[in-house]
Amino acid sequence: MQFKQKNKWKKLKIWLMTIFCVMVIVPVAGVLVIKFEGEKPVIDIDRLPAVVSAKFDITGKVHDARSGLKKIRITMLRNGKETILLDKAYDAPEWFKKGEVIDDTFKIPVSVVKKEFPDGKATLTFEARDYSWRDWWNGNKTVIEKEIVFDTKPPQLTVLSRQHNVSQGGSGLVIYRLSEPCVKSGVMVGDDFFPGYPGHFPDKNIYLAFFAVPIDYTGEKGLYATAEDPAGNTTKSSFYYYLKKKTFHKDVLKISDNFINAKLPEFQNIPGVDATRPLVDQFIFINTELREKNNQAILGNGKKTDAQIYWEGAFTRLPNSAPRANFADYRDYEYNGAIISKAVHLGVDLASTQHVPIPAANKGKVVFADYVGIYGNLVCIDHGYGLMSIYGHLNQITVKPGDMVAKNDTIGYSGTTGMAGGDHLHFGMFIDHVFVNPIEWWDAAWIANNITGKIDAVKASANK
Ligand SMILES: [Zn+2]
Repeated sequence: MQFKQKNKWKKLKIWLMTIFCVMVIVPVAGVLVIKFEGEKPVIDIDRLPAVVSAKFDITGKVHDARSGLKKIRITMLRNGKETILLDKAYDAPEWFKKGEVIDDTFKIPVSVVKKEFPDGKATLTFEARDYSWRDWWNGNKTVIEKEIVFDTKPPQLTVLSRQHNVSQGGSGLVIYRLSEPCVKSGVMVGDDFFPGYPGHFPDKNIYLAFFAVPIDYTGEKGLYATAEDPAGNTTKSSFYYYLKKKTFHKDVLKISDNFINAKLPEFQNIPGVDATRPLVDQFIFINTELREKNNQAILGNGKKTDAQIYWEGAFTRLPNSAPRANFADYRDYEYNGAIISKAVHLGVDLASTQHVPIPAANKGKVVFADYVGIYGNLVCIDHGYGLMSIYGHLNQITVKPGDMVAKNDTIGYSGTTGMAGGDHLHFGMFIDHVFVNPIEWWDAAWIANNITGKIDAVKASANK
């Protein structure tokens, strides 16, 4: 009997222990596991460039999923002096709950910080804590350090060239000196940017920017030189210029069925040309959309330019040739008495005899030699600093990309490839990405007054 009772008591004890475990120890242990979690807060800093300007914002995100955010602190150390940029505490959680804030963002404008710091290096420290009970109830901690360089001063751009007399559709040159290395500098003509290049002068801070004045540019937005340093600070410098307005020739070209029938087969394999549509519709497509696409393909070669002047003296105009069309002729295309298409002719057409040798207009490097739609077989020569010449409708090309050519070297033979009615050379010139009037570059006096004279004047004053 006694034994039985003892046994009962033992069972009861086990029961009570089990209930105690389930009711007390397990929940407490569970709570402790949760409250002592060891997952650190995450600090995600947005891209921080090596050099930042006063316009820059230091931004990022903080995150803590398990206990919630307790605080975030961002400080900056410079010359041994620490400044608090952000010190933010988040509300404490109620018992057995986690902090109320799991995600937050931060944004510190450099313009605010900059009042206390001169330009130069500094160290940023980002520190975040969560509401875990670890580290004696201080929470898990994440610390990230970042080096930063402040550059809040815009670069200085001094225009060294004087007098800039330019024409609509013409070319120009601005020579300037930069006070510091820049990621981008050059000349703005309205919305068009023309990059400047160093290297022509022993002083590597002196740049040459050749620019084009688009034929439809009327001067509202002005011409100015501009530069941007690695931090993103920009500057604008105006310079004296005189813009001569031009009136361009208007022309009506009559398109016959004979011409369309003779020319269209060449274009049948070009993407976008739909052979099932009426021939005149195909012609309109070729003359507008394909022309624009071909122009962009040719002008894209401007970025392949070398930072050195290859050319010397006046450019060669195809000898013994008669002009068939001028630069910036505004053309209406008439078919059966109706205007069906419009285009602007952005080169000069020169006709000589059939299959005449085509001379390179000046020294340079061949950057393109291939078939380009309406221009047929075409060669593009880089003369340096963004100045290029093109030769279209060739019957045959005798050079390849990468070849250096001297002035008057034969680069091919004239022909009728592309949208050409008869054997002729389509000669064009462009700067960076805008076609210019070749007439200026054929003229030794214009070059002396507007290009080489300017370079010599700067050279003379730099040597003083
Ligand atoms: Zn032409």
